[in-house]
Amino acid sequence: METGYINGAYLPREDIKISPDDRGFLFADGIYEVVRWYEGEFFDMEGHLQRLKRSLRELEISWPEADSFPAICRKLISVNGLEKSPVLVYIQVTRGAAMRTHTFPSPAVPPTVYAFARSFVPESSGKENGITVMLRDDFRWSRCDIKSVALLANTISFEEATRKGFSECIYTRNGKITEGSHSNIFFVKNNILLTHPESEYVLSGITRKNALAIARNLGIAVKEEAMDEKDLARTDEAFITNTSAEVTPVVAVGTIKIGDGKPGPVTCRIRESFTALTARLKH
Ligand code: PMP
Repeated sequence: METGYINGAYLPREDIKISPDDRGFLFADGIYEVVRWYEGEFFDMEGHLQRLKRSLRELEISWPEADSFPAICRKLISVNGLEKSPVLVYIQVTRGAAMRTHTFPSPAVPPTVYAFARSFVPESSGKENGITVMLRDDFRWSRCDIKSVALLANTISFEEATRKGFSECIYTRNGKITEGSHSNIFFVKNNILLTHPESEYVLSGITRKNALAIARNLGIAVKEEAMDEKDLARTDEAFITNTSAEVTPVVAVGTIKIGDGKPGPVTCRIRESFTALTARLKH
């Protein structure tokens, strides 16, 4: 039986209750974070904690115990006996429950904090052989830098991609490629690694940040610069990054083949270094 976390308590999943007046339910007024446990240690917990606190700050949601996030994650791993499994821990913090009004509750109410840890099977065939992705207009809001639970545009796009047989939906805004529905995207063109700069149009992915650090360490030239949609056909390589897919090669965008349609050498070098980094976390 799964034990989850709710507002300071660890309870069986069925006993977790959230008010129908919760602003997460009424307005998607909340933020979330997902961190991965590599059978012994979390990957870049500090990065996830800092991003969680930033999302809270940007939305003026007060959770004074935010620094307890790593301890909550650890406890969820141990109470569920998941120490030796690959695990994703999900945490969501909403502005809390209050009578429905567009203004923030005044006086403020305590936030609702819900978290769970679940084992998962890391996907491997996409990582080895590459995936194909769909391209569509970025119809999301312009605060994609906040890890908000308001993910309707993202879920609609990913559903559409899945129905059409693609593994991710990549967005384009005014001709520039931003990111995926739940990933960041990188390209290699003329031996330079390109990805959209940190901005209000992309989430600053923790995997993105680590992939950039790896690339710089490997001596790969890096430019945090958006890729033009019209240059896709002249791109040598592409890959997406996120907490669960890590570094996954992209071999086609819609009908456009990337490079020779196989995972490229720069992508593979970055992926191998990333795997070496995570292998060290396993006990
Ligand atoms: N962009 C979006 C829109 C996402 O949902 C995610 C996954 N949370 C990412 C990028 C990648 O972030 P991370 O590497 O921290 O998982």
